[in-house]
Amino acid sequence: MKDSNIYDVIILGSGPAGFTAAIYAVRAGRKTLMIAGTRWGGQLMLTTKVENFPGFAEGVQGPELMVNMRNQTERLGVEVLNIDFTRADFTKRPFEVEADGKKYLAKSVIVATGADSIWLNVPGELQLRGKGVSTCATCDAFFFKDKNVIVVGGGDSAMEEAMVLAQVAKSVTIIHRRDKFRASKAMQERVFGSPKIKIIWNTELIRYQGAEKLESVKLKDNKTAKEIEKQTDGVFVSIGHKPNSNKFKGLEIDEKGYIVRREILDEKGLLKYRSATNIDGVFVAGDVHDYRYRQAVTAAAFGCMAALDADKWLGEGGL
Ligand code: NAP
Repeated sequence: MKDSNIYDVIILGSGPAGFTAAIYAVRAGRKTLMIAGTRWGGQLMLTTKVENFPGFAEGVQGPELMVNMRNQTERLGVEVLNIDFTRADFTKRPFEVEADGKKYLAKSVIVATGADSIWLNVPGELQLRGKGVSTCATCDAFFFKDKNVIVVGGGDSAMEEAMVLAQVAKSVTIIHRRDKFRASKAMQERVFGSPKIKIIWNTELIRYQGAEKLESVKLKDNKTAKEIEKQTDGVFVSIGHKPNSNKFKGLEIDEKGYIVRREILDEKGLLKYRSATNIDGVFVAGDVHDYRYRQAVTAAAFGCMAALDADKWLGEGGL
């Protein structure tokens, strides 16, 4: 195959991490392809108003922000394909990426496939997303000032969401399906110490109710099977995330499915690459490795780092 058919960088994924990586890679003069997916744009395509992405004085709708990122990326000369990535072979050089039945070759790959929030999948959830039902307190807490809200879950994320909400909401009720949290002791203690947070144990949320916006939920006690209705202005589902990492043979993945990001030092002990993986030439960015921050702006920052790392790696001769 002719060298002109080989991309310097192929980016997998089209959220803020992917688009930022693409912008930096193409501006570094690298021949760049993005495999964006048929449902491109990532989690922001499912949100409404975004008020915490800098540069938009009045906020911006999530899908509009992603269309802007895509237009900017394409204008700079990145080829963006709305096709689904199916597999990658990182044992070959150049790397082989398969999407929509076709093979694409790349000297380096940036994995920015993101993560999906896990939802409860109970009646009313889909219809009321963005109308009182959310998976991100950092993004949406602001809309629930002096309101009564619920957080579902018992892990570190749920504790964190509850604490963020407690700063603005009138009351926060955590609904947990067991009688113990799995969150770290320190996080639990912060929650137990907050006068605004109440906990309902052994209980599941089984239905959301409301026409134009969320009005109430149906809760079921796991021990007695008794059902009650509870009025609420908002529900934050915080039962985990599923990183989109299952199609990468050979990449190191942790027990929760997140790709393991490695920091590589040079011979003087200085940071050389921040977004490396266990495979030389494969870099990672955004929520597929980041369980901690999960913000559009942090994903974008990780995308920038991955592209700068890939550019440096290519500049040093790659492999
Ligand atoms: P997680 O630790 O997997 O916890 C998920 C919680 O949701 C569990 O309490 C689980 O209940 C509950 N749950 C799962 N499916 C459910 C369902 N269908 N209905 C009702 N409840 C359900 O997830 P996470 O809290 O997102 O944390 C993920 C990882 O990131 C963890 O390793 C965590 O330590 C880490 N993290 C760290 C920090 C930090 O250090 N600041 C912050 C956030 C996350 P059960 O307990 O009954 O299984």
